[in-house]
Amino acid sequence: MVVTADLALYIHIPFCRRRCGYCSFISFDSRGDDIELYLRALKTDIAHHAGNERLTSIYFGGGTPSLLSVEQLAGVLGAVSHSFSVDETAEISMEANPGTIDEGYLSAVRELGINRLSLGAQSLDERELRLLGRIHTKTEARESIRFARSAGFGNVNFDLIYGLPGQSVQDWRSTLEEMLTLAPEHLSLYSLTLEPEAPMWRALKDGYLPDIDPDIAAGQYEFAEDLLAAGGYRHYEISNWAKEGYECRHNLTYWQNKPYLGVGVAAHSWLGNHRLASTGDIDEYLASFASGASLLPEMDEEISPELELAETVILGLRLGSGIGIDNINNRFSIDLMAHYGRTIREMTDSGLLEFAGGRLVLTRRGRLLSNEVFWRFLPDNIPAKVT
Ligand code: SF4
Repeated sequence: MVVTADLALYIHIPFCRRRCGYCSFISFDSRGDDIELYLRALKTDIAHHAGNERLTSIYFGGGTPSLLSVEQLAGVLGAVSHSFSVDETAEISMEANPGTIDEGYLSAVRELGINRLSLGAQSLDERELRLLGRIHTKTEARESIRFARSAGFGNVNFDLIYGLPGQSVQDWRSTLEEMLTLAPEHLSLYSLTLEPEAPMWRALKDGYLPDIDPDIAAGQYEFAEDLLAAGGYRHYEISNWAKEGYECRHNLTYWQNKPYLGVGVAAHSWLGNHRLASTGDIDEYLASFASGASLLPEMDEEISPELELAETVILGLRLGSGIGIDNINNRFSIDLMAHYGRTIREMTDSGLLEFAGGRLVLTRRGRLLSNEVFWRFLPDNIPAKVT
């Protein structure tokens, strides 16, 4: 096979044991009987996208991919290698939830070639875990990393959430300090974001939970920045920290605005200047692919060069290393400073962006106010170009 390009592959597994109170991802907690049918559809989906690209990363996300048996995971990986060339150094990640895994399971998963584990711990505080509606206890969250180590995983991520109702900076500090003793290679820290369909959103609106205080959340974020820097983690993306060399290669594809293919229900792709999304309706997905038919994307948006430039700048600014001005100029055949000169000057004057060795990066304050920066780079918001 002649390899034509590198590609990242995302595989969505939309099943969970129970829905968490804050969740607005596409996942189902009462469709366990459909897993086999879904996997059959998924394999057809993968086969329909077969190509000459080389996969540099594969990411099982969800949902709860660790609800799949080892045989089911092997079947999906088999379908992937049948349809694509997989780079021998590919990063192959799987999200796994504490309470659904043990050492034997993870050892078998590791033997399949999955070499990075992302543990959805979310907190190491029993009260917070109950508040979030997680299925696991603090002990199970701690155990999950021990299981991962015993199974041979040397690249483990821990997901944690801050900005919870009633969570103080001290509560957050306790979780972070305890997490540091577990020494994962990678950390993803997310501020709680609630969509109206999430039960916690309703509970907040109806006054059953204390309001989320954005100032406390900002303080928690800054506390994490300092603590993790002292702990040897590199803050390489707004919400992500890693030990040197353990940055998530799959997610870097997104932030570098490079091509990726998503398969499964509600999966998104970025291919050949098109942003695509498959249906979020699992019944439609099953009915179409299970019969071997093809399913047109629910969304297919052609991205103009102007919007691609804006998105590349915005995504790149999420990175600790920011954007290389020469890289952007070469990739889009433009002069970035002429194109965005006024916006960049305003943002640097406000202390939200700064130049560092030919790169443009968010300042510490800019990371806290990143959305204030990002929207200004969208095509409709660019002031008259400065020459
Ligand atoms: S485990 Fe993740 S995907 Fe599943 S319900 Fe909870 S937050 Fe949503």
